[in-house]
Amino acid sequence: MGAGPAGLIAARELAATAPDLDVVVLERDRAVGAPVRCGEGVGHGGIAEFMDPTDAPWISRRITRVVFVAPDGTQVRVAEGDVGYVLDRSRLEPAIAEEAGRHGAEVVIATEATGVARLQSGWRVATRGPSGAGSVDARLVIAADGVESMVGRWAGLDTRVPARDMESCAQYVVGGIAFDPDAIYLHFGTEIAPGGYAWVFPKGVGVANVGLGIVALRGQRGRSARAYLDRYLESYFPTGVRTGYTVGGVIVSPTLARTVTDAMILCGDAAHMINPLSGGGIVNAMKAGRLAARVALLALRAGDTSASRLAQYHADWMRLLGDDHVRFYRIKEALAKFDDAFFDTLARSLNNIPEDKRTLGRIFARALVRHPALFPVVAKYFV
Ligand SMILES: Cc1cc2nc3c(=O)[nH]c(=O)nc-3n(C[C@H](O)[C@H](O)[C@H](O)COP(=O)(O)OP(=O)(O)OC[C@H]3O[C@@H](n4cnc5c(N)ncnc54)[C@H](O)[C@@H]3O)c2cc1C
Repeated sequence: MGAGPAGLIAARELAATAPDLDVVVLERDRAVGAPVRCGEGVGHGGIAEFMDPTDAPWISRRITRVVFVAPDGTQVRVAEGDVGYVLDRSRLEPAIAEEAGRHGAEVVIATEATGVARLQSGWRVATRGPSGAGSVDARLVIAADGVESMVGRWAGLDTRVPARDMESCAQYVVGGIAFDPDAIYLHFGTEIAPGGYAWVFPKGVGVANVGLGIVALRGQRGRSARAYLDRYLESYFPTGVRTGYTVGGVIVSPTLARTVTDAMILCGDAAHMINPLSGGGIVNAMKAGRLAARVALLALRAGDTSASRLAQYHADWMRLLGDDHVRFYRIKEALAKFDDAFFDTLARSLNNIPEDKRTLGRIFARALVRHPALFPVVAKYFV
C-alpha cells in the first residue's frame, strides 16, 4: 500500500523473488513519484544498495561536499568524496515501479485504500478509484502509506506521534541563486529553524531545493514553517525565483514499538523509520521495504502470517537501524539543550582543522576535545 520508496522496493523484491505471487501496489496519487514532498538528498552508499546511480536519469545532482552553517553564518565545509546525490524523485519512483512491473507486480494508481477488514485469510482492503469503490483481498498487507499513514491505525496499531517529535517542513524550488552546486548546506539556529534546520540541496547550477523543518512546540507561537522559510529566503536568497512549493511532515521519533500485526507489516514513514537526527527517510524506507518483502515471503511460504511470525521483521529492523535511531534520538534531545552561541563557537573551532582533513569523524573528535560539555551526549550515545 503506497508507491513510495518503501512500498515500491517491497513490491520489486517480492515480485522478483516470488513470481508466483500476485503483488499489487495501491497508490492514491495520480502519478507515481509526484508531487515531490522532499528535499531529495541521499547518501551514495544507501541508494546504491537499491538502484545503480551511474548516469541515472533520476539524479539531479552529484554532491561531494557538506557545508554545516552555524547560527551566526560561520560555514564549516566537509569534503568526503562520494557524499551523495540530490535525486529527482519524480523519476526515481517511476523507475523502481517499472522494475517492479517488469517482474510482474501490478501498480494501480489513483486508487486509495479507505479501510481494512480482517478476513480469516488476511485482509480485505476497501478502495476508492477512478471507477468508484472496490476492494482487494490480500493474504498479507505491507502498509507503506507514508507519514499520514492510516492503514496501521485501522488495523489496531498505535501509530500516534507526540507533538514534540513532529517536524513541520516547507520547501521551495528556488532558481537564480548563488551557492556551491556540488555541496549541500545544512543551516542551524533557533531563529532559523527551531528544533530542525534549513537546507539548500542543489538541483543544478543556480537552482536548489531550499527548505526547512521546525518543531512547532519550539518555535514562536503560531509561526508556521512557511513563515520561517519566507524569512530565510528574504535574508539569504532575496533575488531567488521560487518555482515550486511543498509542505510535509517528518516524524523524528524512534521506530514504533510495534510494526507488525496479524498479516500486516508497516514500513517506512508509516512505521516511523526516519533518522531522527537528520530527518532522512528515503533509504531507510527502502531498507525496510526489502526486509518486509523477505519476512513476508517466508511467512507466506510457511502458511503462517501471524503477528508472532512477522515479529522477525521488527527484530531485524531494530538490529539494522532501529536501535541506532533510539541513540540518535537521545543525541537530538541532548543537542537541543545547547544554545546558538555554543554552535557558533564550535563551528569556529572546527574551522581550525585543515579542510582536506575535516572529515565527520575528526569533527566529532575535535568537538569532544574542545567542548567537554558534549561528553554526556556521547556517553548517552554509547549506552
Ligand atoms: C519537506 C520534506 C523534505 C524531506 N527531505 C528528505 C531528504 O532530503 N532526504 C531523505 O532521505 N528524506 C527526506 N524526507 C523524508 C522522506 O521524504 C520520507 O522519509 C520518504 O519518502 C519515506 O518513504 P515512504 O515510502 O515510507 O513514504 P512516502 O514516500 O510518503 O510514500 C507513501 C505513499 O503512499 C501513498 N498513500 C498514502 N496513503 C495511501 C492510501 N490510503 N492508499 C494508497 N496510497 C496511499 C502516498 O500517496 C505516497 O505515494 C523529507 C520529507 C519532507 C516532508
